[in-house]
Parts: sequence; C-alpha cells; structure tokens
Amino acid sequence: ATPRVRKPDWLRVRAPTSAAIAETRQLMRRLKLNTVCEEAACPNLGECWQQKHATVMILGDTCTRACAFCNVKTGMPNKVDPLEPVHVAEAAGEMGLSHIVITSVDRDDLADGGATQFVRVITELRKRAPNTTIEILTPDFRNKANEAVARIVDARPDVYNHNLETVPRLYPTIRPGARYYHSLRLLEQVKRLDPTIFTKSGLMVGLGEERMELHQVMDDMRTADIDFLTIGQYLQPTPRHAKVVEFVEPKAFASYAAIGRAKGFLLVASSPLTRSSYHAGDDFAKLQAA
Ligand code: SF4
Ligand code: SF4
Repeated sequence: ATPRVRKPDWLRVRAPTSAAIAETRQLMRRLKLNTVCEEAACPNLGECWQQKHATVMILGDTCTRACAFCNVKTGMPNKVDPLEPVHVAEAAGEMGLSHIVITSVDRDDLADGGATQFVRVITELRKRAPNTTIEILTPDFRNKANEAVARIVDARPDVYNHNLETVPRLYPTIRPGARYYHSLRLLEQVKRLDPTIFTKSGLMVGLGEERMELHQVMDDMRTADIDFLTIGQYLQPTPRHAKVVEFVEPKAFASYAAIGRAKGFLLVASSPLTRSSYHAGDDFAKLQAA
C-alpha cells in the first residue's frame, strides 16, 4: 500500500471529548436527527459542538449520489420522516441556537427532490424557534431545480447555500453527478427570485485545481451575485475517496480571502479547516450587526 501523506500540523485537531458534545449527540439521537458533522466526519466537530453549533442533515443518512470526496453513505435512501421538521425545530430550541444550518442528502428518487421537506423545516423553525436565523445548504435538485428552488425561496430562509465544491475542470472526477453551470444558475435564480436572501457557496482546495481556475470560479460566483464564499482544505475521508493532491498552506488561504473580498463578496471564510458551515452563525451575526 502507498503510505498516506502525513497531515501538516495546521490540520491537526484534538479528539472531541466533553460533556457538551455527549449532550448534543444524545439530543440528536433522541430526536432521530442526523448531523453532517458526524456523517461527513468533520474535523471541527469538537470545537463546533462545544459551542453548540451543529449542521443537521435532513431526509435521511443515505444519499442517491456518490461524490468522490464525500463520506455520506450511498444507496437506497430512507423513507421521509414526517416528524423531522418538528424535531429540527425542537433541537434548535433546546440547543438555544441563534443560527441553524440545515442540509440534506441528494434525493434524486423523490418527485420534488426533497424541496417539500426543506419548506416544512423552515416553517417549523419560524414557528417554534422564531429568533433562530436559518441557513439552508441544498443539493442541486437536478432537473427539478426550477420548481424546487422557487418553493424554498418562497419559504424565505435567511441564507441559501449551495456549494460549487471545485473548479469546473475537476467535476467529471470529483462531482460526477453534477454540472458546474447548473449549480451556478441555481444560485443566480435564488437571488433573482428574492434579492433579500443572502446566497452562499463553497469550495474545497487541494484537489489539483490551479490558482487561476479558482480566481475564475470566484468571478463566475460574483457574476451570479453570490454574497458569501467559503474555502477549505479537502481531506480524504477514507482511502476509497479522492486523494489529496496538495495541502494548501495557510498563507495561500489568506490570499484567497483577500482576493475574494476584493472581488466583492460580503463574507469570505478561507482557512484550512473552513467548512461550509464553520462559524456560519457568528459570521452572519457580525454582518447583520454591521
Ligand atoms: Fe458541523 Fe459544520 Fe462545524 Fe463541521 S464545521 S462540525 S459540519 S457545524
Ligand atoms: Fe455527499 Fe452531497 Fe455528494 Fe450525496 S450529493 S455524496 S451528500 S456531497
């Protein structure tokens, strides 16, 4: 076997152990909720859960796609749980969340791609946790996107996030089920339908992309009026997943952040451990207070 490349020091994090983390895990199990923090084996789980930030993954724990970077199970998806929207709102209330991030697996098997469940979750949250701001991170809904996006926008989340993940050249190997311009258009549609909703997108680096390609993606994002940008290091969840081509240095992340701000993004989070939902609430609160 080829030896795995050693992770540089800036990616080392302490193993998550604390009472707050155990409590969050129990709450999620009791309410039958999945978190992307656990399913994606996120390196920030210790820090986020300690601070009571979590990203809930709705519509089951099994995805109909198999992206080369993603640790979520693939296969026959679960039945949609009609109690899930209420449970998400209860979790937000019990954790006292000021901001919640809701994402889902891809449900290419469902007639609406899962849009109805997103709408129900937003509706329950508004009812039961009126002070919590809502960020949703959706799949691309493939050929159902126009209708799905229109319905979700109507429910008025505060932030609509959809990740482009990587540069267009790497889509065939890294995000084979998806199309770059489809994802861009989806975000553009959100903004066109309701300019008061903030739009957001994220990229992983270290997959073999060139610097100039990243600059081009940032320009494409700004052309689609995307407000917030996240950039983080790709980590290989298991040896079956896409290999890390490069551990990008922290100073390169800082330079991407500066370039992103210069290009007009309202918020840019760019660091090795940045994930789509990392510190999402704090950053959003700062922006609203400004
Ligand atoms: Fe969960 Fe996001 Fe924090 Fe990772 S960065 S632990 S996915 S909230
Ligand atoms: Fe993972 Fe999303 Fe790809 Fe499914 S669609 S495999 S959840 S990244």
